[in-house]
Amino acid sequence: MSITTEIEHPADDDIVDVLVIGGGPAGATAALYAARSGRTCRVVDKGIASGALGMSREIGNFPGLIDPVPGAHIVASIRAQAERYGAIFVADRVTAANLDGPVKTAWGAKCAYQGRAMIVATGSMGRAAALPGEERLIGRGVSYCATCDGYFFRDQAVAVVGATDEAGEESLLLARLARRVHLLMPAESLRAPGALAAELAANPVIEVHRSTLVDEILGQNRVEGLRIRARGAAASVLEVSGVFLYLQGARPIVDFLGGQASLSAEGCLVVDSLSHTSVPGVFAAGDVLCKHLKQAVIAAAEGATAAVAADRFLSGHAKLRPDWS
Ligand SMILES: Cc1cc2nc3c(=O)[nH]c(=O)nc-3n(C[C@H](O)[C@H](O)[C@H](O)COP(=O)(O)OP(=O)(O)OC[C@H]3O[C@@H](n4cnc5c(N)ncnc54)[C@H](O)[C@@H]3O)c2cc1C
Repeated sequence: MSITTEIEHPADDDIVDVLVIGGGPAGATAALYAARSGRTCRVVDKGIASGALGMSREIGNFPGLIDPVPGAHIVASIRAQAERYGAIFVADRVTAANLDGPVKTAWGAKCAYQGRAMIVATGSMGRAAALPGEERLIGRGVSYCATCDGYFFRDQAVAVVGATDEAGEESLLLARLARRVHLLMPAESLRAPGALAAELAANPVIEVHRSTLVDEILGQNRVEGLRIRARGAAASVLEVSGVFLYLQGARPIVDFLGGQASLSAEGCLVVDSLSHTSVPGVFAAGDVLCKHLKQAVIAAAEGATAAVAADRFLSGHAKLRPDWS
């Protein structure tokens, strides 16, 4: 099964100065700094609640915020601040990239995005194929992108596994194609705006299963069902021909780079002191780098550094100098 769809290519004037992949504290702060330095900037992000900060219920140590707030509020505030200076945020999941040459391209499920510099800020909530049956059935009913593969499941019963806004949005998309969509949430509630949860609940094609885990993906040559377990209930089999997984782990999200930039032994992007990766014009910030302290304020600071470094790169000044503006 192909993981591609018809992708629209941007016009030349859609090539921005700084293309940011990931809009958590690192990517959104990078966008704020890039936009405030007069650079055109586009951020491609797959969903606030898919990121480490966006999913955190309560943050009490972000400087300047006296009362604890949900992490998603902090991300939304930084994004709104960046938008005020002209940064554009696009909801899409990047699945591939070409870092070669003076213009960098990232392919999302909806569109291709291009920038003269790229900042990778995708965090470290990625996961390896971990469910029994998952690896064997990738492309045979196991998918990670309904926008890409949903059409293959027209009039069939499918499952979506996850509790993020991304899982919710993709369920709604599938509900326009599939006969039945089972949204299996490991948590009791969706980590997403109330309006999205209400839309899911009201959709007659979608059945929401709360506090439900997937133990195994069943089928030899293609997905035939899932062995699931709702909290407090015995295991049961759910018959579906496709399963779309939106679960989180603790691995840097770098798969879409296809090995084009150097990684450490732990799988993190390697950068120099100016946030530059091994590829000219490609920078990185936040949890996608290996570091001993993963904190929102540090990710934000690294986003600022990466944006200033990208700006200097675009101006032809490779080195940073003190800047007090
Ligand atoms: C449960 C938990 C509690 C925490 N508590 C605290 C705390 O109290 N205080 C604190 O300072 N820090 C806390 N942290 C750490 C903090 O959240 C992270 O250090 C910080 O969010 C890292 O920022 P980031 O921008 O690098 O990554 P993230 O916040 O993970 O953001 C990455 C963004 O990239 C997007 N993305 C990923 N892949 C793609 C793709 N392929 N295409 C498009 N977009 C993509 C995601 O949707 C996400 O929005 C906590 C983390 C967790 C998991």
